[in-house]
Parts: sequence; structure tokens; C-alpha cells
Amino acid sequence: MYALNSALIQMTLRRIILESESNFHAILTEQRISASDLRFLQLLNRQNLTALDQLPVSLFRIGYRSMEVGRGGLDDDVFERATISLSMVMESIAFVERNNVNPLISIGFDNKGYDLFRAEPFLRRLNMIYRGRFTLMLRSNIQSLELSATSPDSKLRDCISIIYGDYKYLSKNNPKAIGTMRDWSMEMMGAEKIATNLLMDGVTPKLVEAHVGLPEKVNSLHRKLRREHSVMRKSGGRIGTHTSALTRMPMHSTLFILIYLMLAREPISRINGFAFSRALFEYRQICAHIKINEDEMLDASEAWLLAAGYRAQEVKMSECRHCKNPVIYDARKIIPCAWPACSNRRK
Ligand SMILES: [Zn+2]
Repeated sequence: MYALNSALIQMTLRRIILESESNFHAILTEQRISASDLRFLQLLNRQNLTALDQLPVSLFRIGYRSMEVGRGGLDDDVFERATISLSMVMESIAFVERNNVNPLISIGFDNKGYDLFRAEPFLRRLNMIYRGRFTLMLRSNIQSLELSATSPDSKLRDCISIIYGDYKYLSKNNPKAIGTMRDWSMEMMGAEKIATNLLMDGVTPKLVEAHVGLPEKVNSLHRKLRREHSVMRKSGGRIGTHTSALTRMPMHSTLFILIYLMLAREPISRINGFAFSRALFEYRQICAHIKINEDEMLDASEAWLLAAGYRAQEVKMSECRHCKNPVIYDARKIIPCAWPACSNRRK
């Protein structure tokens, strides 16, 4: 995996050192770094930095005021500063490209802004950085991260904490950046193409059929895809309910739903097939990068049942009152928090 976090921390610290004393606090505020965060960042040892570099998500989100900044150049005195910020943003973009992950989930850069910015030439990007007030903000409380270089489960929890930090921040400050993916259009794409996509993701034919209709067709599509080795044999087993995923794999369920909610438009009025498919891909990418075995991951049908449960409002996400971490639960029966450090954790 192409690593990002230690480079961004280094650039952040350099940037702070380069600034005059009067600008120092302005930069900390802009990057949402508290004095104790700064101390924490300065004291990270090699092992901590290695652990941070193994996370497939950035510690810093990319925020900006505007993309419409007009043309024109930059004065000499701001050129250098803008160049450092540009390097940080470009390094984050390289991270997205090299690891094949979604910009919103991995670096907190909304998909529309990401596409617009990336398409521009150097000087124009530099201008956007300065005039559009680009900034790299801490996405979550870094001091609560576990920073394990060895445990995949611990890395999974750190990814959830970081993405959840973004989810909360964006819901409050920039709600337009989340939930932007529209579902596939049944009229334009046709039920058969949608069914094919979901079968190729590994969703079991019974669930696909319930979603798109086409009773006989889905099974024959599935047989055809299996002959072509486009779907794994595994898909098609028994169908549980969302409850089994929630109780068996609460952390994985939380990560998947969190990503789905970051992406999906109208997750309560429908199961958003397109956002589901993208969220499943992101979830699998994250698990692969932190080296979670495939048989320890949610399968596509389990993930589908979670999205379906969310739509039916039987699956809910909220914040644990004790440890402030995100928890997802079955609305019909409250399960105690699954976070290991929580005082209210399940026994
Ligand atoms: Zn808790």
C-alpha cells in the first residue's frame, strides 16, 4: 500500500515551523490541531508512524471554501506557503490513485471537488489552493487511536474512528459532501444489468431477485456468470438476517454501514444498489489493505441485508454514550457496545 500519514505529519510540522509566531495559532486552528494534538504528533515514534502508515485512510481531511477562484497568479510571498499545501493535497491524491480507494472515504475530499481539482494544471491548482482556502484538517481525535502495527482488528477500529470523525464533521458542517451517490436507474440501465452487477458483487440470487424482480432470469444469469467464473461459488448459500452480521461481526458491520451512509443518497427510501456496490468495494479494499482474511469479512449478502435493514429502519447507527464511538444495532433489541475500551462493552 502507498503510505500517506507520516508524510502528511512531517509536512504539517514543517509548515508550522516555517510560519511566523503570529501565524502559528492560525494554522493550528485551520488544521483543527489542538496544542495537545501537536505535542502528540511531535512525540510519535517510529513504531507509531509505521502503524499510521499502514492505515488505508488519511488522518487529514481535505476541506476548502470554494472551487471558483477566478484566474490570475499568486504573489511571491504566498507562493511558497501555497506550494506546501499543494504538495499535501497532491500527496493525498496520489494515495487515492495508487491504492484505488474512494477520495471521500480515504482522504475526506468530496468526490465532485476531487474530480474538478485533479483535472486542473499546476498554476491553476496552486491558485485554487490559496484563494479557495484549502486546508488539511485532522479527521478525528488522533489521541484515541490504537496505533497497532500488528493487529488487523485494531487497525479496523482506527479506520472506523477516522471515518466516523469525518461523518460527524461533514453531517454538521458540509452535509452536501455526503450521501451524493444516486442509485442506478432501473429505466436507463434495465433490471438485468443491475442484477448482473449485484451478482458479480457476490449477492445471493434470492436477494437480487427480491430487489430487481425477474424471478427466473436471475437464476439463469447467475448460472451463466458462474460458468464464466465472474462470480465466486461461495455466493448463493443460505440467507441469514441482518441480526446475524450485527451480533457476529459488529465492527465490520459498523464499518460497512458507515461507508454506505457516507456514499448513498436516500438510504432510507430505498436500497441504493450503486452506493451499495461502491461501499462494498471500499469496505473490501480497506480490509485487504489491513490484511484481514477474506473469510473474516462480511460477505456481500450480509452487507446487503445490513443496507436493507437500514432502509427498513431496523438497523440503526448511533453513538455510544460511554465511549463516543459509533455503534450499529438492531432497533428491536439494544445490544451493548462492542468497542473493547468501552466501560459499557458487551460481556
Ligand atoms: Zn461504547
